[in-house]
Amino acid sequence: MPQGIANQKMHHLPILQHPDRRLRIKASLVEHFDEKLADQAEKMLATMYDAKGIGLAGTQVDFHQRVIVIDVSENRDSPIKLVNPEIELIGETVSNEEGCLSIPGVYDSVKRSDRINVSAQAIDGSALEMEAEGLLAICIQHECDHLDGILFIDHLSSLKRKRINEQLKKTPE
Ligand code: ZN
Repeated sequence: MPQGIANQKMHHLPILQHPDRRLRIKASLVEHFDEKLADQAEKMLATMYDAKGIGLAGTQVDFHQRVIVIDVSENRDSPIKLVNPEIELIGETVSNEEGCLSIPGVYDSVKRSDRINVSAQAIDGSALEMEAEGLLAICIQHECDHLDGILFIDHLSSLKRKRINEQLKKTPE
């Protein structure tokens, strides 16, 4: 998810743009917790910060393993890396305006749970349990969707989605 207007500065990793079919690939479980994985997560964080995003999923950088990185803090100093995340919705359904680094310039309201339980692994493979609420909860749900090949616009009505896709086609490269 973008923090504000997506800016196309130098990214460390290229971010796939909708309607790239690779955004629809279902990511596989991470099994090897090695140096390479840690390095990939660091690159993803750097890419996310450069793109002024608050979250990025492996899928978006053509890395099809279940890794997401997030930072919803004001000071951009609280990175979270989640591997193999699983979420349980435990809150109320709320509507929040979302955007996506893979769909620049498009923002719309999506209904999500405002509170979740997360079971995941840290980058070293250790088990991690957390409860998240508000923007963090929403962001984690958005990024977990990416790992299953789902985009936030998939949650909108088909009419809205059609309009967005037509609008994107008209946007010059
Ligand atoms: Zn996204």
